[in-house]
Amino acid sequence: MTVRSAQSCRFGSHRVLDPRGALPQAAWRLDATPIAYENEILCDVDALNIDSASFAQLREECGDDAHAIGERILATVRDRGKQHNPVTGSGGMFVGSVREVGAALRERVTLQPGDRIASLVSLTLTPLSLDAVLGVDRATARVRVRGTAVLFESGSWAKLPTDVDDRVALAVFDVAGAPAQMRRLCRPGDTVVVIGSDGKSGILSCVEAKRRTGPSGIVIGVAPNGRSPGAQLLRDGGFVDELVEADARDALQMARGVETAAPHGADLVVNCVNVAGTEAGTILCAKDGGSVYFFSMATSFTAAALGAEGLGKDVTMIVGSGFSPNHAEIALETLRSHPAVLAHFTAIYGRTP
Ligand code: NAP
Repeated sequence: MTVRSAQSCRFGSHRVLDPRGALPQAAWRLDATPIAYENEILCDVDALNIDSASFAQLREECGDDAHAIGERILATVRDRGKQHNPVTGSGGMFVGSVREVGAALRERVTLQPGDRIASLVSLTLTPLSLDAVLGVDRATARVRVRGTAVLFESGSWAKLPTDVDDRVALAVFDVAGAPAQMRRLCRPGDTVVVIGSDGKSGILSCVEAKRRTGPSGIVIGVAPNGRSPGAQLLRDGGFVDELVEADARDALQMARGVETAAPHGADLVVNCVNVAGTEAGTILCAKDGGSVYFFSMATSFTAAALGAEGLGKDVTMIVGSGFSPNHAEIALETLRSHPAVLAHFTAIYGRTP
């Protein structure tokens, strides 16, 4: 038995090495020793789903070389005790098997050693130790690894479903906050614009926005390539009323395209892109008094706040928290109730790296 006996901070501050006093997400370095405290869950990790903004940055930095990306991930985890991209500040999620449940949690959690789970907390705060990177799939940002990770008492996780491919579930869990928030934010009759609509979070957001806004609502997707498989799915499945082909970094061009479809602006604009420099365009697409939901991890708080000021736009800006109650179940339900969407995700994310 390797469970440590001292019960520790439920948020994991006992694992922070540098700087002292920080919480794990803000810390530079964590202790990832694979021995569970009484209130921790220790897992054997076999795959990481790297956050899209982080993976795009890694591909660029490493000249799109899979081996170099793997080496970069190993170096980050060795230096920081977590997969916390120092450039983008974002992480991702892991999938693996439970090795040990600390004694203090055994009454409270329904997990047994050997259970297959996905983490629902960011890799930027998850103590991670890697022995090896076994494969990097550039198409899906999935990295096969051999290692261990620790979940804190405050962390969340989900058992992998039996009816959905593990790899698809992990891809969807990573962005589960987006469709869950759509259920909260969209109202019947709203005009909703989803930027980066043909990616993972974008598709799930369009599907939920269409469902929530109802027959009198309008959902407009924005994608850089209107013929991508994701864009085709959105059109063929009726998950958007209009698809605008635009580069979200070109604020005025995108806003003109959206204005043609929604002359009065959007009640809600959702940003799901994985590149920087899209804040102003996103804000421009909203009507005065509307809301903007920045799900993208490439969002700059400064650019959004000062951009809105410069544009004279009175909009409510919402930070895309990765957590929302039942978000993993909501994301799976979105897939299960739309066979064409499930088929699309399975075709892209279900294949082996
Ligand atoms: P994804 O599947 O890679 O999708 C990204 C989308 O952005 C793609 O549709 C892509 O289009 C589009 N895009 C890229 N450049 C664009 C541009 N210049 N103009 C318009 N669209 C552009 O990513 P994801 O996994 O859905 O993640 C989306 C964002 O959410 C990322 O920033 C990620 O870091 C963030 N995220 C946030 C949370 C959270 O908790 N808030 C959790 C997970 C992820 P093409 O594919 O056609 O290039």
